[in-house]
Amino acid sequence: MARVLFINGGSEGHVNPTIGVVQELIARGEEVVYVTIEDFRERMEQTGATVRTFDGQNFIKAFLSGGRNYLLERINGLLHTADVVIPSVLDQIKGEHFDYIIHDSMFGCGRILAQILKLPAISSCTSFAQSKESFDKMLEQLTEKIPGDLLKPIQADYQNLTKMVKEKYEVEIQSPYEVFCNPAPLTIVYITREFQPYGEAFDPTYKFVGPSISSRFTQEAFDLSAIKGKSPIYISLGTIVNQSIDFYQLCFQAFEDTAHTILMSIGNKVQISDLGDIPANFIVKRYVPQPEVLKQAKLFITHGGMNSTNEGLYFGVPLVVLPQSADQPVIAERVAKIGAGLSLQMQSLTASQLRETAEHVLQDPSFKEAAARIGESFQRSGGYRKAVDEIFEWKSQHHIGD
Ligand code: UDP
Repeated sequence: MARVLFINGGSEGHVNPTIGVVQELIARGEEVVYVTIEDFRERMEQTGATVRTFDGQNFIKAFLSGGRNYLLERINGLLHTADVVIPSVLDQIKGEHFDYIIHDSMFGCGRILAQILKLPAISSCTSFAQSKESFDKMLEQLTEKIPGDLLKPIQADYQNLTKMVKEKYEVEIQSPYEVFCNPAPLTIVYITREFQPYGEAFDPTYKFVGPSISSRFTQEAFDLSAIKGKSPIYISLGTIVNQSIDFYQLCFQAFEDTAHTILMSIGNKVQISDLGDIPANFIVKRYVPQPEVLKQAKLFITHGGMNSTNEGLYFGVPLVVLPQSADQPVIAERVAKIGAGLSLQMQSLTASQLRETAEHVLQDPSFKEAAARIGESFQRSGGYRKAVDEIFEWKSQHHIGD
């Protein structure tokens, strides 16, 4: 048995795929201390992990304080979270022994903590993996677009932050890539190699284990019997950028006169009462047990978050993708390329376009067939069980926890 320190940030998309991994690690005898924000305590305690938390509000505030417009600002935002996460974690684990650390590939200052604690590290990557080469190229291209007068203070912020990390935590940050992608000797990626752009280019330290989908053990505020036997169209923009009242009302317009049952999850930033009259064929909730819903859905209209896409395809549901930011445009492209759905532009979207596209995807069997095919490959890929096989293989190669 080994003791594992698991560090994550606090968002559904980064936490959900780790639930099965932690549960499986514990089932195979590991002891896991899981660090996240308070919102995910119940979910992670149910796995059998010991949960410690850091201040979620300060964490988000620090992240956003870096700025949101440019990648370089987000990198600074991640560095700004160091003072929220690191002292709190170090204080809460004082005097404890760990054999290895698993950290998110983006949130939680995982690589810095691994270096402070001198622990063998594994990166938990809930989106596409990124090589240093491709990241550097992308950062260079995006940085060229920043006007000179804005760029200088952003670069100065980066210099000050890396200096602070060196002075305070004695960790030398070599590149923005380290901050944004938290590379480690082993990276678990929760997609298949086929779904990863240029998947064959990644070395064997990247393990593409496929979607990690498991039971979430939470008390859900939605009674699934409301959609039983109704094969609904399910609509969600995920849990982060979802305060889109106009979009939700456009969905009403698109589908109110149809025979479809529509289940729409709007997130916790909008009140259901803000949406006005709800058509009789709509069920609107702020949160639903998404994987359970997808088992019954005939179509998923999604923002194309990695987890939502994985979950939809895992259950063979064709998609209409409305990508907004981050990795979503690339995900939408991948979905269209494998033939499991179509992509639409949110900015120019009309109700009739959404309805027609949804009908097209529903009526042309090739979308459902492609979704079923990729779903089968996702289910075969192993997910969290394969992830833990890889972790144990790596542990034995490096004599960790012997
Ligand atoms: N989710 C859920 N119920 C909802 C909305 C979302 O369980 O009503 C979960 C969903 O299953 C997925 C995660 O929230 O695991 C969203 O992650 P994704 O990467 O798709 O998008 P993000 O929220 O990060 O934009």
